[in-house]
Amino acid sequence: MFEAYRGVWVYIEVNEGKIEEVSLELLGAGRKLADKLDVPLSGILLGYDVKGLSEEVIFYGADQVYVIDHPVLADYRTESYMKGVIFLAEKYKPEIFLYGATSNGKDVASAVATDLSTGLTADTTMLDVDLEKRLLEASRPAFGGNIMATILCKKHRPQMATVRPKVMKALDRDTKRQGKIIEEEISLKEEDMRTKVLKIVKDVTKKVRLADAHVVVAGGKGMGDLKGFQLIHELAETIDATVGGTRDVVEAGWLPHEQQVGQTGETITPKIYFAIGISGAIQHIVGMKNSEFIIAINKDPNAPIFDVATYGIVGDALEIVPKLIEQFKELRK
Ligand code: FAD
Repeated sequence: MFEAYRGVWVYIEVNEGKIEEVSLELLGAGRKLADKLDVPLSGILLGYDVKGLSEEVIFYGADQVYVIDHPVLADYRTESYMKGVIFLAEKYKPEIFLYGATSNGKDVASAVATDLSTGLTADTTMLDVDLEKRLLEASRPAFGGNIMATILCKKHRPQMATVRPKVMKALDRDTKRQGKIIEEEISLKEEDMRTKVLKIVKDVTKKVRLADAHVVVAGGKGMGDLKGFQLIHELAETIDATVGGTRDVVEAGWLPHEQQVGQTGETITPKIYFAIGISGAIQHIVGMKNSEFIIAINKDPNAPIFDVATYGIVGDALEIVPKLIEQFKELRK
């Protein structure tokens, strides 16, 4: 019934003329699935003036790239992008279609899944295939992070999943890799679009996005109140780090949701992660456990955060953090 559907696809997200890191990571993951299934891996590249990026998609593992380059696709809009993706999916029928779990990736994937009447597993953290049945096994934490659920899409095609940034590994860029670039055209008219992008206002509150930060200073409810949490900002500023926090801190209104680390926030892998006044609930741990060095400060010696910490300091964060700030400032002089 699904013989017509073959091949693994990766949606290539482009922002400000650059391919998003997660798309490269997905080419790495998609390569493994495609090799297992013995089918080609394709990149789906939409935008305006993006054709030049096709080779990069091949260098990172794709056998071919489907490109739709159109002025109406200059800025991301659900309507125009879903039209392009659906056109390609209906014409070429992939069996597996992966998207980065970014704002735009999640947006286009859900619109496409609805239109194609197929399933979509959100926020996947592990991917595999059942070779015999050619089923994508998309796994993600479920029931508050206590179990991993493997989700199958048995009755519809393509099998789609959004995958969190930073959990898959990109292949090394290989400029010797060869592939096919297939240009497609669709009819899109600006006057038919229901939305217009008038202006793009950049968020200037964060120096570095949490997902891209090498050093993250994260705080939890142990900081006491908004005033206590200021120490987290101060420490981060002193060492040029990005601020993160737990869900409880976000719910208390001390930080915006984009700064939340964990199952329902960001999954990150910085070089150094400070976990200060954070208990270490499983939903938080899943978002930061792969950091290279984890430095935890907590007044409770039995706090679960110490189970994943490289270094632990038992004590009152409200006393320790000001001392750290002072020491770091001293070192920077
Ligand atoms: P608490 O658990 O209250 O911990 C505070 C810690 O601070 C304690 O360990 C305490 O010993 C310590 N402390 C107190 N005072 C001091 C002091 N003066 N100095 C030093 N240490 C001190 N959480 C997330 O973080 N991210 C998520 O994405 C997320 N998703 C969730 C999804 C679901 C479906 C559910 C059910 C929960 C989710 N949670 C998430 C919530 C999670 O279960 C915890 O409730 C949350 O992580 C706890 O936040 P916390 O560590 O800031 O607070």
